[in-house]
Amino acid sequence: MIIGIDDTDSNEGMCTTYLGALLLEELQEYGNIETLPLLVRLNPTIPYKTRGNAAVALKLKTDFPEKVIAHVRSRIGEFARMDCEKTNPGAVFIQEKDYERLQALLMSFLEEAVKEVIEIKKAKDLISELGIASKGFKNGRGLIGALAACGAMLNPGKWDFTFEHLAYREKERWGTPRDVDKESFFEADRKTYPETWDTVDLANRLVVCVSHSADPVLFGIRGESQEIVNKAAALIRAEPVERFAVYRTNQGTDMHLIPVQSIAEIRDMHSYRLEGKVSAAPKTLEGGHVIFAVRDRKGAEIDCAAFEPTKNFRSLIRKLVPGDLVSLSGSVTSGTLNIEKIEIKALAQIYREENPKCPRCGKHMKSAGKGQGFRCKKCETSSLSKVRSEINRDLEAGIYEVPPCARRHLAKPLAREKRQDVRIFPSR
Ligand code: ATP
Repeated sequence: MIIGIDDTDSNEGMCTTYLGALLLEELQEYGNIETLPLLVRLNPTIPYKTRGNAAVALKLKTDFPEKVIAHVRSRIGEFARMDCEKTNPGAVFIQEKDYERLQALLMSFLEEAVKEVIEIKKAKDLISELGIASKGFKNGRGLIGALAACGAMLNPGKWDFTFEHLAYREKERWGTPRDVDKESFFEADRKTYPETWDTVDLANRLVVCVSHSADPVLFGIRGESQEIVNKAAALIRAEPVERFAVYRTNQGTDMHLIPVQSIAEIRDMHSYRLEGKVSAAPKTLEGGHVIFAVRDRKGAEIDCAAFEPTKNFRSLIRKLVPGDLVSLSGSVTSGTLNIEKIEIKALAQIYREENPKCPRCGKHMKSAGKGQGFRCKKCETSSLSKVRSEINRDLEAGIYEVPPCARRHLAKPLAREKRQDVRIFPSR
């Protein structure tokens, strides 16, 4: 049986992955866990999300499906923050006999949940048409994520994946500051990067894998394999870990990006990869956000932003000039593309006018008076007009990304980028 769960948490606490980790242990009473649990990130622009728009799926071989359903329902009832308006849990249960029948349908639903915006009604209609067991609480919005997570579990080979080792706090410590040895995270990073990423942010001297909210997560180590995330986690020195779980996940895969040819195709609350030319130079706004415009081949324009939280990435963006050919990845909200990555494909050549150089001594000539050209007094050479010289751009073509402290869960870090045709500048 596959169990999908979503939307159990609120800003004041809980995390759906914690419930997943708990159920992973508890459900062993009714059968055998068949594979690693899944942590599936969905459309990052959805306003209903608490933090990272995550849903969870588990797979269990069981002869007692009814007992499993009853157990999951009661644990959601106990743990979910039902008092919070934004918390609308959902659980979906898929029986083994239905795996083949539902596989392709729920793969499309997963793709849609990662890239598009889905109405609750669509998930509810699909559930009833397909005869799937489910339980929605309150308005049942969590059924969307729960169904999508089941789609991911049914199609393990159809999407790129990474791993996360999530360590959870003892319950009595929830809501208190986390007691962690920061240096141990830098050490774990040194020993496992680039197979792990986003543990620390070297440029900004930050530990980024430790959450600061009231949820049960102590830290999460992300990486390319189960072995490497466990190796890094074993190097962490911190308060006691109540339990941990390694999730297989679509984090760090760019699964949310929709490639588009033209800006006319772009809609709010979607994420894109778009090529165009810088058409208005970057400006720094109040609050430190850096905004510039990009134009596509048809002449349409869109504002692109490196917001203040992207820190040092903004100094790179400020070096762009009109005419630079770029490919941008990021989410669009309020008509602005929030940059996650930029590939600078070709730099525009820019020039400045300057006094000509003397062909003998090589020094710049001086003006010989209004309308009289330029001359070098010493060598007695002259020239009529100014010359154009190319300005050194102090910027290289290649792919750049926001630093780990500003990374979106779904964004593929450059530590994972295998392209050979372009220079890669991972941000650390
Ligand atoms: P956490 O990261 O702590 O688990 P969260 O950020 O995942 O919290 P949720 O509490 O899961 O946030 O809330 C997101 C809600 O949005 C869920 O109800 C989910 O079903 C719904 N949702 C997810 N993807 C989409 C989508 N593409 N369209 C519409 N609703 C969606």
